[in-house]
Amino acid sequence: MRYAETIIVGGGPAGSTCAAELVKRGQDVLVLDKAGFPRLKLCAGWITQKAVDDLGETLDGYPHPILKLDIRTYFPKIPFGLNWFPTPAANYSIRRTEFDHWLLERSRAPVEKHAVKAIVRDGEGYVIDDTYRCRYLVGAGGTMCPVRRNLFDGTPRKSLQIATLEKEFPLPERSDRCHLYFFRRGLRGYAWFVPKGNGHVNIGLGGKSKYFKNSGTNIHDHFRDFLGDLVVQGLLDEKTAGSMKATGHPYFMFAYEGDVRRDNCFLIGDSAGLASIDLGEGIGPAIESGMMAAAAICGDGVYTRAGITHYSLGGVPLRLMQRFYRPKGRMPQAN
Ligand SMILES: Cc1cc2nc3c(=O)[nH]c(=O)nc-3n(C[C@H](O)[C@H](O)[C@H](O)COP(=O)(O)OP(=O)(O)OC[C@H]3O[C@@H](n4cnc5c(N)ncnc54)[C@H](O)[C@@H]3O)c2cc1C
Repeated sequence: MRYAETIIVGGGPAGSTCAAELVKRGQDVLVLDKAGFPRLKLCAGWITQKAVDDLGETLDGYPHPILKLDIRTYFPKIPFGLNWFPTPAANYSIRRTEFDHWLLERSRAPVEKHAVKAIVRDGEGYVIDDTYRCRYLVGAGGTMCPVRRNLFDGTPRKSLQIATLEKEFPLPERSDRCHLYFFRRGLRGYAWFVPKGNGHVNIGLGGKSKYFKNSGTNIHDHFRDFLGDLVVQGLLDEKTAGSMKATGHPYFMFAYEGDVRRDNCFLIGDSAGLASIDLGEGIGPAIESGMMAAAAICGDGVYTRAGITHYSLGGVPLRLMQRFYRPKGRMPQAN
């Protein structure tokens, strides 16, 4: 049986940041991920300045293209015509396939490809699939993390399941502006157009799964409408929009509200339900929680949910923003 003092299940931003910090502190750590990196991760790939700072990195140190975002939001009729994105400091876009691979490599932690299934307690430690043993276990396996499913109570609340459709593709002549759309009538959800630094763009749309079920509407139809709106706005040409095939992904927001630490076991990132409900910002909290869990494993600080920063739209819940939203037909023209 392979032993490591700390085993991290999942090598996304949460797991790789935790691994990097543990390696830096001289700890014996192993990362298990079911995917081989670089791996595809459906995500708009927008990160905040705080996430970059928490990594202890500068933008110059990032080896791939990174774009500073000029963000336009569309909540027609919101008081004072709000059309900027009120987060402190700057926002950037990265491609997840590049960003996550870089994070994992920079951690210098050993990584094994293994899809974790069963985990049991073994005295003070844990045994994984009768193959791995550790003293400290970190669940960083995303919204369906096997560590949470095996060792913590509570399953994600179905009512908080978000269905998304998304596509990342090269569009060299794309606009450099990031556009966010919040809907109230019709689809209860949001959509985005996020340009990337290397001529790519990521577009997507998401809404509560419950909405699609209750309204009998199909997310693909909403996505087609959204593509039509992007054509009207001049952000996409008709040919590109017409041939677009998006990929779907179910996702949970704030779906787990239980403990994030039990004995020597920690939940970080999406496995702890840390993505924000308003914008789905999850990369920042994943990084922050990974750092905090690593410090706690080293006996340097406590790890609690309350200690992890939640921001994006200043912590304003989506339903509160939606109270002010009165759609007026089609989206405004991009300018
Ligand atoms: C459509 C969409 C758009 C988004 N856009 C943004 C955005 O623009 N900005 C932002 O900040 N957040 C965004 N998010 C949220 C963000 O993607 C997540 O919050 C973030 O990826 C969380 O990081 P993580 O490390 O916790 O989990 P993940 O990145 O999901 O990594 C989990 C890892 O665990 C591995 N794993 C899973 N199960 C197992 C298993 N059984 N055994 C071994 N390994 C396993 C997976 O292979 C994966 O590599 C978006 C999410 C979605 C769905």
